[in-house]
Amino acid sequence: MKIDYLHTDYLFTGDGSVIKNGFIGIDENGTIKELGITNDSIKTKGKYLEGGISPAFINTHCHLELSHLKDKVERKTGLVGFIKKLQSIRDTNLDNVANSMQDSDIAMWEEGIAAVGDISNSEISFETKAHSKLNYVTFIELFGFDDKKAKQLFEKGSQLYTKAKELGLKANIVPHSPYSVSRKLLELIFHSSNGATVSIHNQETSSENEMYIKAKGKLMEMLNEFNIDTSNFKSNGKSSLLSYLNLIPKETPLLLIHNTFSSENDIKVASQKHPNIFWGLCPKANLYIENRLPQIDLFYNENLKCTIGTDSLASNNKLSILDELKTIHNKFPLIPLPKLIEWACKNGADALQLEELGIFEKGKKPGIVHLKNLTKDGNLKKETTVKRVY
Ligand SMILES: [Zn+2]
Repeated sequence: MKIDYLHTDYLFTGDGSVIKNGFIGIDENGTIKELGITNDSIKTKGKYLEGGISPAFINTHCHLELSHLKDKVERKTGLVGFIKKLQSIRDTNLDNVANSMQDSDIAMWEEGIAAVGDISNSEISFETKAHSKLNYVTFIELFGFDDKKAKQLFEKGSQLYTKAKELGLKANIVPHSPYSVSRKLLELIFHSSNGATVSIHNQETSSENEMYIKAKGKLMEMLNEFNIDTSNFKSNGKSSLLSYLNLIPKETPLLLIHNTFSSENDIKVASQKHPNIFWGLCPKANLYIENRLPQIDLFYNENLKCTIGTDSLASNNKLSILDELKTIHNKFPLIPLPKLIEWACKNGADALQLEELGIFEKGKKPGIVHLKNLTKDGNLKKETTVKRVY
C-alpha cells in the first residue's frame, strides 16, 4: 500500500492538540495511517506544507436553501427586522435558487468544509445535497405556534424526513426556535428524536428572553403582526433556554445555535442540567443581524463544547469556517488556535454524529486542509488562507 506523507510547521489534530513540526501519512483514500513528529526520513519522502495542516472543517449551521439571498437583507436591523425582510423576499425564481445552492455547495468544499448541518424547511435543497461531495446532516426544521396544529405539522415534517431518507440523506427533525414552535410540537419533536442530535436557534435576540420572562417585546409583537395567536402563551419569569430545557430528554444531544443573548446564568445552569449541549457559534451572522457576539470567552473559560457555523448567505457574505474563526480570534485573541480548531473540527463532528470526521486519528478519514500564512507562533492572521489537500 502506498502512503503519502505530509509534514508541516503546526499539525492541528482537531481535538484541541497541536504537534509542532508534525506529519501525517495517508493512503490513497485519505485514511490516516500514521502521525507524529517529523523526522529526517519523513522529510526526505514527504511533502512540506508551510504553516499548518488540520482536519477538514465541520459547518454545524447553514441554510443552503437561502443561498440566493446574498446581499438581499440589510445588515444590523436586529432579528425581527431580518425575519420580516426574509419573509417578504423568500420565494423567487427556482432555477436561481438551485444554481445558488450548487455554488454554495462547491464553495464550502473548496473552503475546506467536510460536513454541514443544514437546515431544510422544504425539499428544495435535497437533490443538491444528495449529489454533493460534502457530508450533509439535514435538519428538517418545523415552525408552528398553534398547539392544535402540532400533530399535523409533525406529520408534514415526517413526510419530508422520509423523502430525505429515500435520497440517502442523513436527516433529523428539529424545531426552529423557542419563539416559533408550540410546546406540544416541541414535545413531539424531542420525544421522537431517539438519540439523534436536535438543533434549535437559541437566544439569537434579546426579545426572545423578554417574551419568556414577561410575555411581551418585539418578537411577541411580530408574531401578532403575522396573525399568530399567542393568547395561550404563558411567561414564567425565566429566560427562553431555561424555560424549554426541561422538555428535552437528557440522552438527546442538543445543538444550540447562536446563543448571542445567553447570560452567564443561562450557560451555567443549562450546562449543569443537560449533559450533552453543543454551543453552536455563528459569529459573522450575529454581527450581520444583531451587531453583537455571544460571550465566547465565557464558553471558553467554562470549557464548554462549542461548534462553528456559517448560517446562510442571507446573513453572511461567505460560507467559510476559517472566516468565522478569524472573527472570533479578532475579538477573543486569548483563545488558542488548537481550541478554535477543536470547535471547528471534532466538536462539530460529534455534534453531527459523524464519527469518521473532525480528527486526525489512525483509521479515520476526516479530509485534510492546509492553513497557509499563519503567524510565526502558529496563530491566525488576516492573510491566513485555507486550501483543501484531500
Ligand atoms: Zn439559522
